[in-house]
Amino acid sequence: MLGAAGDAVRGVARTMTRAVGAATLDVSSGVARAGEAAHAAVTGQRIGPATLRVRVVILSDENGHALTTADLLAPSIDRADAVLTAGAGIRVRLTGVDVEPEPAPRQALEPHANRRLLLDDVLGHTEFYRRISATGPLPGVSIGVPITVIVVRDIAGKVTGCSLGISADWVVVQACLFDAQQPHTYDDTVLVHELGHAVNLPHHPDRANIMYPASSPPSDVRGTGVRGWQSALLNANRHVVPGAPD
Ligand SMILES: [Zn+2]
Repeated sequence: MLGAAGDAVRGVARTMTRAVGAATLDVSSGVARAGEAAHAAVTGQRIGPATLRVRVVILSDENGHALTTADLLAPSIDRADAVLTAGAGIRVRLTGVDVEPEPAPRQALEPHANRRLLLDDVLGHTEFYRRISATGPLPGVSIGVPITVIVVRDIAGKVTGCSLGISADWVVVQACLFDAQQPHTYDDTVLVHELGHAVNLPHHPDRANIMYPASSPPSDVRGTGVRGWQSALLNANRHVVPGAPD
């Protein structure tokens, strides 16, 4: 009888531990660079390069067909690099694009969004994402670990990408974002928007900002602006390490 409740309690503890660990690391690793970024924002100077490592995992459907390709994803990765380099001095380094060849579970192919996804995470229902995004013995509490972008088939509602913020090292994005043949769904701003959430940025009310919540291709795609304080937060994050990509 206590099974589900026990799972939930353990799930909350796990999620909280990850979030607290992540926040602690943000403080210890990022303060110097955040100060540098804040100073640069005030003075209009550019700060030295930093690197955000990103890995992509493409899920396969029930028939074992990959949901998209590395080639189709490339423009969104390039866009993320351009936006973060211009706005925050952060280069995006793609560490790899992997296709998960085994058919993914339905719940992983078509996840819930936002709070429901967070609930799923707390209940342990996102184990599949955590497993394929794991990059070390302690996922979620290491400095400079890549963020894993997981390409899924469909996210519930009108959401096309979703991140659990600093408590997870993975984000999910919908495959149709990357197909340039589909102008009504193609949007190369979503990947970098979700990376923004994963490194701690909240939504911003300015349509010209990369963290504006809505984006409606082809006619009303969000802008790609980054404010100085957003640059400071980005640079303080544990996923971002000083120095140019190796
Ligand atoms: Zn968002």
